[in-house]
Amino acid sequence: MAFLFAFLLAAAFGQTLPQLPLPPGKVVLVPQPHHDDHTTDYGMGGLIARFVDEGYDVYYVRASNDEKDGVALPAENDNINHRESVAAAKVLGMKEVISLNWRNDYTASIPLNELRAQLIFLIRKLRPDIVVGHNPWEHYQKNPDHRNVGRAMAEAYWMAGLANVHPEHFKLDVQPHQAAYLIGKARLDWGLGHTPNGAFSFNEAQQRRKEIAYQTHRNVYAHPASARALKATLAKQNLTVPEFANLDDQAIAVQMEEWFMNWQSRKIGKQAGAKYAEDYYFMDEFDHLPGLKDYLQRNIQKQ
Ligand SMILES: [Zn+2]
Repeated sequence: MAFLFAFLLAAAFGQTLPQLPLPPGKVVLVPQPHHDDHTTDYGMGGLIARFVDEGYDVYYVRASNDEKDGVALPAENDNINHRESVAAAKVLGMKEVISLNWRNDYTASIPLNELRAQLIFLIRKLRPDIVVGHNPWEHYQKNPDHRNVGRAMAEAYWMAGLANVHPEHFKLDVQPHQAAYLIGKARLDWGLGHTPNGAFSFNEAQQRRKEIAYQTHRNVYAHPASARALKATLAKQNLTVPEFANLDDQAIAVQMEEWFMNWQSRKIGKQAGAKYAEDYYFMDEFDHLPGLKDYLQRNIQKQ
């Protein structure tokens, strides 16, 4: 019920994004295409850290093998990215990283029903109350893994509760399960992204874990070369950053990534009236019943 108040409260305080309370539950499933999607600029690191701190068990699904992500050869990238994904998940406090190992960036040709079946099985096995992933309806998404895994996730979220879908699963000691809440994230630096309908705030310590988890993915972020390039650009304009004075290029690259994460969370936080926040498209337990939702919004009474 509390979600229905959030929009009215946000409007009253002049914020552009309502701050949402955490949905109730115990288990959160985060199905993502890649090792790093929980922490990047469009990511969910702060919300995941908050879920963990408030007692939820959070599981991360890495659907692809990430073989293209990084400068090494594919097999090596797969191993490094898996290792860094486990390390980053530990920083955030997640229970486990489950790798499905579909071939990175080639998901257009994979049997999407199989990927969906895997996600349906995981939903039935782990029984999440909340599913968090890419908003499959985001605009201008050019990454095939993001599109395909996002769509498979949304389909699985709906279909896992249907007893006639993949009944073979029930031989493996699982039951149909309907998660109540779906939280979608989009990449806003690509085209229009999506239109978020709310934000989840988090505290300073959770923000800090988000920053550390992000730069833990050293195979793809925080390269010393990016620090050298930045310093060269600054030097051309006779500019220096005092904080860089006693840092080597690796430390500067890490510092830049952490500042970026911090800036991103503060930017969304400002829109939501919090110090740190992330924006999402949130679907609650009444989304499939718009008439009832409308009735509740007009007639709601707190018990
Ligand atoms: Zn990704």
